[in-house]
Amino acid sequence: MMRYIPSARHADYETGAIPIEHSGWRPEQRLPTHRMLVDDVDTDIVVIGAGLAGASLSLHLAERGVNVVTLEARQPGNGASGRNAGHVQTFLDNLEPLRSWGDRGERFITFFMEHRDIVFDLCARHGIDGDAVKCGMVEAAYRPHAALARKAALWKAHGYDVDVVMAGPLQELLGTGKYRYGIHWREGGRVNPYLFTNGMVSAAVRQGARVFGDSPVIGCHREGQRWRVRTARGSVRAQRIVICTNGHAGNLFFPELARTQYPLLACGMASKPLSPALLDIINPARVAMTHYPTGLYPMVIDGRNRLVTATIPHPGRAHEARTYFAYFLRHLHRIYPRTRDFDIGLGTYWTGITANSSSVYHEDYPKLYQVDDGVLALMNLGTWGNVMGPQLGLSLAQALASERLDDCMLPLEHPEPVRCQRLFEYKTRHLMIPVARVIDHLHLA
Ligand SMILES: Cc1cc2nc3c(=O)[nH]c(=O)nc-3n(C[C@H](O)[C@H](O)[C@H](O)COP(=O)(O)OP(=O)(O)OC[C@H]3O[C@@H](n4cnc5c(N)ncnc54)[C@H](O)[C@@H]3O)c2cc1C
Repeated sequence: MMRYIPSARHADYETGAIPIEHSGWRPEQRLPTHRMLVDDVDTDIVVIGAGLAGASLSLHLAERGVNVVTLEARQPGNGASGRNAGHVQTFLDNLEPLRSWGDRGERFITFFMEHRDIVFDLCARHGIDGDAVKCGMVEAAYRPHAALARKAALWKAHGYDVDVVMAGPLQELLGTGKYRYGIHWREGGRVNPYLFTNGMVSAAVRQGARVFGDSPVIGCHREGQRWRVRTARGSVRAQRIVICTNGHAGNLFFPELARTQYPLLACGMASKPLSPALLDIINPARVAMTHYPTGLYPMVIDGRNRLVTATIPHPGRAHEARTYFAYFLRHLHRIYPRTRDFDIGLGTYWTGITANSSSVYHEDYPKLYQVDDGVLALMNLGTWGNVMGPQLGLSLAQALASERLDDCMLPLEHPEPVRCQRLFEYKTRHLMIPVARVIDHLHLA
């Protein structure tokens, strides 16, 4: 049965502002909504934004007995966290940027590895029904790549359950002989990020956090030693503010934060549920898949038997759902020729914005900013927030609760504007992705 999907304007696709009802991760049944803030309240810490980062921070602060109020402009998971591709990636592509962090680089990587199961752990511990499955992940390539071999060796040396795999085992895992080389990460997998984010928020409420929806923050100002955070109909007085708005676009409080990242529009789509016969053909091990080196067609099969994928749309054409689904199907049919005999329909299509601290994909690390006295921002989570969002929320909550900010897995920085903020999106959407599509189509990499 088709569920009600509100209409959206082309411009809303282009800005990632289409209603969250378009996201394929929304369940059929409505989740509980969080009421609007209509009073003036006091707390220790106010968290602004309830995506993966803000939800995890609120939960872990509340668990530590900290008095926390969370303000969300709409409802939890409305931002990138309810619109992503559902991959739980438990490794990092490039450790190079960490070298310049000195000891902190070591601390970051240790924390990252120790908590790489955080998505599955949180779901288990708090009874979150987030379709989180540790099904593993395969980076699959048409031919051998030394970079893949080096990556597998690096993480294996760190104790990861990972191997380079050749054509035979790949055929068994993925059900196709098209790939000749790849990495099989037996950790990681998939999650429904919208349900996961909402699950963390509900757990935070159970631990004592007060969460308000439909309460966009419109201003923050000092009141003596404390801060007053204002919404349209209420306010929160707090010792500290932590801003978890990811890109911060359109916000007038601490507007300098909106210049600290490169925004990039991405789109996600989910097929209609597939039959068991078809699922026997496509990816029988049900691992999360990515295509190396282009990264063009990430794919998970979710708990509702749908293929979920994501890509970067052409400039000005983000609303063309059928175009991107057709690209995906073309790829699918090539990797799994037998799927041509089946009718695979597009179920849902949506867009969202990632906020990237670097214009170089693999140098993109999240940021913790000291914005003012008592004001922090945990943002710019880039394209890998499913694991890092919850991890950073945990790490910052530990540091705040113990009053030792230096212990956080991220170094504290001052917000700095990036250069040529729009160039990254221009370069990616006009050049890099179209070229990658041609390379993939012609089987050149
Ligand atoms: C199409 C797509 C595919 C992706 N695929 C993956 C993937 O497979 N795996 C992965 O790990 N990551 C993926 N990502 C990235 C991941 O989704 C993000 O890194 C992550 O969601 C960022 O979380 P966040 O909490 O920082 O931000 P968000 O989820 O954007 O949350 C910010 C919140 O702040 C709120 N807010 C903003 N302004 C205000 C205000 N004034 N007052 C109150 N609240 C405010 C917003 O409403 C929003 O809910 C993908 C992203 C996209 C768009």
